[in-house]
This record gives sequence, structure tokens and C-alpha cells, in this order.
Amino acid sequence: MPLVAVIPEPNRPVEVREVAEPDLERNSALLEVEVSEVCGTDVYLQQGRLAGVPYPLVPGHVSVGRLQKIRGELLDLDGKLFNEGDRITFLDVHRTCNACWYCLVAKAGTRCPHRKVYGITYGLDDGLCGGWSTHIYLKPGTRCIRLDAEPETFMAGGCALPTALHAVERGDINIGNTVLVLGSGPVGINAIVVAQMRGALRVLCIGAPERRLDAAHAAGAIATLNIETHDEAQRLKWVLEQTSGRGADVTIEATGAPEAVTQAMRFTRDAGTVVIVGQYTDHGSTEFNPHLDLNKKHLDVRGCWGSEFSHFYRAARIIEHRPEPWAQMKMISYGLEQANEALADVSEGRVIKALIRP
Ligand SMILES: [Zn+2]
Ligand SMILES: [Zn+2]
Repeated sequence: MPLVAVIPEPNRPVEVREVAEPDLERNSALLEVEVSEVCGTDVYLQQGRLAGVPYPLVPGHVSVGRLQKIRGELLDLDGKLFNEGDRITFLDVHRTCNACWYCLVAKAGTRCPHRKVYGITYGLDDGLCGGWSTHIYLKPGTRCIRLDAEPETFMAGGCALPTALHAVERGDINIGNTVLVLGSGPVGINAIVVAQMRGALRVLCIGAPERRLDAAHAAGAIATLNIETHDEAQRLKWVLEQTSGRGADVTIEATGAPEAVTQAMRFTRDAGTVVIVGQYTDHGSTEFNPHLDLNKKHLDVRGCWGSEFSHFYRAARIIEHRPEPWAQMKMISYGLEQANEALADVSEGRVIKALIRP
């Protein structure tokens, strides 16, 4: 019988439960989970801070495992059949419809109203749909990718890499740009790596705690500043010192703190670009001066919501072909029974990245 770690309802501890093995529909599969992850979103899911989440919920949106049972046919993007025993990962977003106004006219698949996300908007009542589980039910239409990278190395990118890749592309970084990353959690660290691939000459990072800033350095940031020991004025002064008094060409906000959005605008040069990717959950409002912080600066401020198959697919290929930045990232593994401990460690920033090994 499959075992799951479930959030019964918001603000309740995670419980391990035994659940029935699902009947497989045609062209679906059962995945034996090798490794899943704990990210900031999971912390917020436990705190009930995301709207539209069906509890009880088994978290874990990005996972790696082996196909234990396939019913019917499961094909990869090249049209090759998957076999039982293959190691795969899969896009957590399911049912982007490719038929609605947002998909077809706006070409904004991440805003498709029909999309569902494993481990976030699919609850336990929808089946075995989260990675904090010995097994995941891969519903028909789930997009799977054959994984040749080491599972741990792939999970070092995990859900953060496709998100970071999307944010960096939204930032339209030019070759030679100076990029400022606000936040040194997994999305921030991954953004540092991908910004360099995209052509950034120098990447700066403001975050905390110190061990995460060490990870930012290891990922290629040339200078970092600790948010815990520097207030907003000191941060601005530091950014200006690093950028000939102008500010960053592109700033990527990946913090989860609303006031960081205003700071991102102030730390960016006139006519620069700001990408907001760290406000995936609602942490409230913030104030800015529309004249000074936005209009007069001639800024381009862009939101960035979720990711699509293209980001996920390229994330997997990047880690397969250039694993170095991820292979050196420090991660800690937890069993299903240790899920509460894992959530607390992620919440407190005691780990760079937490993995769940069911
Ligand atoms: Zn759609
Ligand atoms: Zn995540």
C-alpha cells in the first residue's frame, strides 16, 4: 500500500497515512518516487497561504522516480515509448488546455484557467498527486521527461530552476549586463546560474542567511550582501557602488517579501528591467512612489507566474549537459516521517535545499 505524507488542513502538522493503490486509467502510469523536494511554496501550503488549494494535500510538485506500472502507452516528446523501469521526471502542471483565450490568444499558458498542479492544486481526493509519497499516479496527459541526469543533481534545480529560467528570460538580459538577484533561496540561487548562461557579466545577490550567500557565491555571484545586517539605505548604497552609481541593468526579485518589490525598483538603473517572481503567495501589500520609483525611472516591471513545459524541459536538459553548478549544491534528505522537520528547516533557512526520500 502506498504511503503518503499529507497536510490534513492548513496549520496542522503533516501526517503519514496509508492509502489504496489507484486503478490506472488508459495511458496513465504509477511512478515509484525516488526523490521529491520541499520548497518555500510547501511551507506556505502548510500555513494555508495559497488560494484554491484542496486539502488534504500531499505536497511535492517536482519529483523523480521510476515507472512502476504503465497502462496503455506513454510517449516522450520525441515519440519514443516509455517502458516500466525507466527513470523519469514530469511537469507538475497538468491540463494546460491549449484551447482557451489565454492559451491561444495571449499565449500565456501559465495563466490558463484549466491548469492543475500536482502537489499544489491537486489534493489527495484527486488521487496520488504529490511527491511526498512512495508513489505518484501520473494521470493521462502528464508530460514526462526521461531523466539521464543524477536524480539528486536534477533535484538541486528542482522546481526552482524552471521558475528561475522563466524569470531570467522575462528579464531580457543582454550580454554584458549586471544583474541583481534579490533573495538567496533556491529560485535566487538558480537565477544566479541561469543569468550567467543568458549573458550576464556580473551577478550581485542580496539575501540571507550567510550559508545561503555562500551558495550564491558558489553559483557565481561576484558580490553578496547580507540583508540581516544592512537596511534598505545601506543596500541601495552598496548596489550603486557596484554599478558606477546607476543601479543594476536587470533585477530579479525572488524573496517572498512585498517590500522587496519596491527595493527591486529602486536598486535598478533608469530604463532597466525588474522581474517579480518571489510573490507566488500573498504576503500583503507594499507602497511605492509612482513618480519616483516607476514613471521617472522609465522602468520595465514584469510579473512572472509559474513555468511551462518549455522551461521544465530545458531545465532537465541543462542539468544533464552542464551539471556542475547543481552537483555542488548542498542538500539534506528527509524521510516521509520527517516532513515536519523538513518544513521547519526550510522555513527557517537552515538548509539550502531539502529533499524528501519516501
Ligand atoms: Zn488554456
Ligand atoms: Zn516549488
